[in-house]
Amino acid sequence: MIYPVTPAHLASFATKVAHYQRILGLTDWRIEVHQAEGDGDDVYAWIKFGVEEESMLARIFISREWRTMPDKHALDDTALHEVLHVLLRPLLADGVAREEHAVIHRLVDVMLWQKQPLNTLETPVVDD
Ligand SMILES: [Zn+2]
Repeated sequence: MIYPVTPAHLASFATKVAHYQRILGLTDWRIEVHQAEGDGDDVYAWIKFGVEEESMLARIFISREWRTMPDKHALDDTALHEVLHVLLRPLLADGVAREEHAVIHRLVDVMLWQKQPLNTLETPVVDD
């Protein structure tokens, strides 16, 4: 089953990207959201970083078609995923991109899909 990513999905995705950019304190970045030109990509979204004087520019491309429903949860997950690539960009060196991607999957799972979101968890009381 193939699901088209509509302009409404794109708008919702862009709103979520801006939200995570803000809460992660990445306001020194310019993050653009674009719909990808081509079809048939096997990923939901991907990111391209600028070089040299555009080193603080990130362009996020969302695929035109998804293999799962682009509902609000999937759009939220994908937006956070891509913004976490921006967060971790300074750590990147040749050869660590795959490990960085795995860390992002863990962060999205922890931040979005635990029974309680992180920001509602009680701080543990420690007796000393
Ligand atoms: Zn990724």
